[in-house]
Amino acid sequence: MTFKSTRTSVLLIISLIALLHVFFGSSLVWLVLPAVVFLLLIAYGSITIQANFFTPALCCADIVDKYIALSFDDGPNQQYTPEVLSTLAQYNAPATFFVIGKNILGNESILQQIDVAGHSIGNHSYSHSFFIDFKSVQGFKHELQQTEDSVFNVIGKRMTLFRPPYGVTTPHLAQAAKALNYTIVGWNIRSFDTTTKSAQAIAQRVQSQIKPGAIILFHDTSVKTIQALKQTLDFAKHNGYKVISIEQLLKINVYG
Ligand SMILES: [Zn+2]
Repeated sequence: MTFKSTRTSVLLIISLIALLHVFFGSSLVWLVLPAVVFLLLIAYGSITIQANFFTPALCCADIVDKYIALSFDDGPNQQYTPEVLSTLAQYNAPATFFVIGKNILGNESILQQIDVAGHSIGNHSYSHSFFIDFKSVQGFKHELQQTEDSVFNVIGKRMTLFRPPYGVTTPHLAQAAKALNYTIVGWNIRSFDTTTKSAQAIAQRVQSQIKPGAIILFHDTSVKTIQALKQTLDFAKHNGYKVISIEQLLKINVYG
């Protein structure tokens, strides 16, 4: 089910209701039904990146071997990113950092550390504004390009992966990402580490959902996440899961 197929189906249903009205005098009140269903589907498709509603998004790998990948959104920052990096180093685990462009200024050395440690870096918009989803195609392109240039100026690599802020997708976002040749990467395990109070609860939520091919979403923005990360990595180790990079898991390139 995509935006286009949904739109076509709804238009057909509306046409049918109109025809029934013209030929049989049935009530036009029935038009409310497809309109409501359409709006509900749009809302669901926007907030559910795994639905591939407005744009295809890679959210996991369809594999049976026990490989998983980690991702950290919303960095880089001085408070937490270095500790996430040292935790990953302790466990010899790779990860992808989806960075916010405006956070790079003043944190260039941290961005470099991520790269030098062998982790990959993806685009997570420039502003990560709460109202970003009202942007035009041009507005989204600007967000992507600003961050791409900021990262390129520090590590000399052009990113090709884009994770939409809040996991929300829109037709304008989809068009901008496509025009700039970005691959949209989501997740299939959301840790809710920004809203959950305890590290234990975050780790438990993640562990209960771990399966082969999973991509886990964390944020390098709190101490809780670092504690939950350690617990998750211990759990993975004890249960025979190996953490590999998103590019290995999805068999894609992270830089152009
Ligand atoms: Zn984010």
